[in-house]
Formats: sequence, C-alpha cells, structure tokens
Amino acid sequence: MYKQIPRILSSLLAACVIAGSAAAAPKVVTDIPAVHALASKVMEGVGAPVRLLPPGASPHGYHMRPSEAAALADADILIWIGPELTPWLDRARRKLNAKAQSLTLLGVPGTVRHEAREEAVFAAHAADSHDHDHHHGPVDPHAWLDPVNGARWLGAIAQALGYIDPANAGPYAANAAAGEAELRVLKEALNAELAPVRNQPYVVLHDGFQYFEDRFRIPALGAIRLSDGAAPSPRRLATLRRGIKASGARCIFREPQYASSLAAGLAGPDVRTGVLDPLGWDLEAGWSLYPALLQQIGTNLRQCLE
Ligand SMILES: [Zn+2]
Repeated sequence: MYKQIPRILSSLLAACVIAGSAAAAPKVVTDIPAVHALASKVMEGVGAPVRLLPPGASPHGYHMRPSEAAALADADILIWIGPELTPWLDRARRKLNAKAQSLTLLGVPGTVRHEAREEAVFAAHAADSHDHDHHHGPVDPHAWLDPVNGARWLGAIAQALGYIDPANAGPYAANAAAGEAELRVLKEALNAELAPVRNQPYVVLHDGFQYFEDRFRIPALGAIRLSDGAAPSPRRLATLRRGIKASGARCIFREPQYASSLAAGLAGPDVRTGVLDPLGWDLEAGWSLYPALLQQIGTNLRQCLE
C-alpha cells in the first residue's frame, strides 16, 4: 500500500507542473500608463502587466518604492520607453534585474523619433520637410503620443512576449492586430476633429507633445519647460512672453504633473488656459487608456483653440 503513495504524489505533481506552465503568464513590468495600456492589449485573455510609476508621478524623475523595486526584480520582461524618459529606471534595471528581457520601445525599428527641441519658441517647419538623417541631438522621449508608434509597438510587444511565452504567441499577435486596427480608426477621427483649429498658436507647459503635434499637424508655438521637464530660465520666459504677444496665441496649456503658476503667469486677458496631460493620470488603467489619452489631448486642444 505505502508503495502507491510516491506514485500518486509524483503524478499529482506532474499534473500541477503542466497546469502551472500552461496558465502562468509572463511577469511583465511597464513604466508609464500608455505602455501599460499597450501591454494590456497584447496580453488580453492571457494575463496582466504591472505598471511601475504610481499615479501622479513624473517619469522624468522618480524614486521607486520597495514594492516597485521588488516587482522589477521579479520581472520576466521590462517593457519601457527607454532611458531618455526614465533615467532612474535604467539605473534600477541594471542594479536589480540584469537577467530580465528588456524591450526598449524607442529602439524598436520603424519607431518615429524626433529630436528634443531646445528653443522656447519653436522654429516653424513644414510637416513634409523632415530630414530624419539630419537628426543627431538627443531624442525627445514622448514618442507614445504618436498613434503610429503605438501601433508599431503593439506588434513589437506581441513579438517579444511570443518569444518568452511561445504557447501564447497566437493570442498576442491577434490582440496586437486588433489594437492596431482601432488606432487607425482613431487617427483618422482625430485628424478630422482637429482640422478646424490647425494653425492656431498655443503654448504648452512642458515640451512633451511634439509627436502629437507632428502627427496631427497642429504645431505648438513654444513650451515653458524643456522636454526633460527642466524649469525655465528668466530669459526663456521673456522670449516666450514676446512670442505669445507677437503670435496672438490663443491658449496656454498647463499640466497636472506641474504646478500651474508658470502657465498662469504667462496668460493674459486674451489668452485662455487649458489642460493637457501627456500621461493620462485621470484615465482608467488598461488598454482603453491609450486611445482615450490621445482623444483627450485632441479634445482639449480643440475646445481651447476654437
Ligand atoms: Zn515629459
């Protein structure tokens, strides 16, 4: 009788191991809400990714809490924009989890990349005169605000997850394709929605919207803070003040990430203030956050500028 026990135990164990390997989704860690949304779409029906950045935090500078460091240390793969957006995450990743796979979205082939702008008042350039071979400066990391990049990254995430979890490669690819189709529809709708307010000058609080501006041909006049969030010098503010006056700018957009006093200081009686949030902190987490984030930026621009 007692001889049976080991056999039963080992077959039970084997069953557990098989069931476990089929059900366990890879541990996926992401950086910001938009990337969490894209990974959520690809993992639909399989599992759910974790997001490191807590609500309201700025990705440009953050200190991880122990629970976030533990999630990163335990990850199978980190999917993130790249060190240009989150230098703190780059340092933590090297220290905590050298073995995890890393998918750096700014490095995905085919990603549209713009050079970071430095001017307070941007040089005007025609949308069709881009010479991408010309760009040698640091990249502007806010590349998720171009839905063409979002669509490209859905495919790259499906590929990366299919590589570490081949059993679910089929669902990953199908989910990515469904998300890409949704984004194509959204892009056309936003193009139509923004048509009446193109060429209305406006100012943003931090230079985080270049990818949206370029994709939808709705260029900002300038930005108060630089693309890494650095505070403006008095000279920059003076340049911007002159630019606003000369252009007859309609709107200044503040951001939930930053105190609104700088934007308020530049607004005059003829200049309205609006809100643009490049991260989407007030939106519900999950796939729907990504299209909702782009739609929210489009709607807020149109409402303030029309
Ligand atoms: Zn930013």
